[in-house]
Amino acid sequence: MCCLTERISISLVHDVEEKEYTDNGLYQAWDLGISKQVGVNLEGKFIQVENPRPDKYWKKPLAEVQSRRDYCKKGSRKWCHLNEVKRRIERKKSNQIMDFQHKCSAKIVNNTRANIIIIGDLSVKDMAQSEKATKGINRATQGTGYLGRFAGFLTYKAEQVGKKVIEISERKTSKTCCVCGKEHDMPIWERIMECDCGTVLDRDRNSAINIMVQYLSQKCQVDGLPVLCR
Ligand SMILES: [Zn+2]
Repeated sequence: MCCLTERISISLVHDVEEKEYTDNGLYQAWDLGISKQVGVNLEGKFIQVENPRPDKYWKKPLAEVQSRRDYCKKGSRKWCHLNEVKRRIERKKSNQIMDFQHKCSAKIVNNTRANIIIIGDLSVKDMAQSEKATKGINRATQGTGYLGRFAGFLTYKAEQVGKKVIEISERKTSKTCCVCGKEHDMPIWERIMECDCGTVLDRDRNSAINIMVQYLSQKCQVDGLPVLCR
């Protein structure tokens, strides 16, 4: 079979001594998104990480190879060759996405003094439903390499250094004004929130603040403290 190529995988298994977690009173909240990740700490300082988009970069070459392949007779030498090129590009794209996710999650975990990292409980499916996403957005969400996997990387890397990742419900965090609590009917392409209360804020920053506020409110309830006011 000329279409089969071998891939060699090496798995290294080793024990990692995990540090014990302690709540040091410092928290960082993250809005994980398609094009960027936005974090905020208790002092209101924002951190922004732009996502590279290998899916966009490889889209055209991939389409070209696929179209050339589809002109050939299935199973012919040329078809097999182009099919292999296509598969190689797909592997490269997915490796690039995974590489970025490993590096970015390690940076998020290691570059903060906070021992608790809060993220929205965001699965691709929820996002597609809540935002009434178009096909394009669904594809983009998949293209950035699965936010769920990213959350998984964050979680295990945090545990290794004695930190915790907490997922909280992300419902309406990007549509609710973080200052007055008013809900806005914002389509996903609207990137700036302008509220009647005078707040003008980047959508993702607003969302990160809301994730932090939601976590602190829940924590107050659990600790038996008065719930935070907006
Ligand atoms: Zn407002």
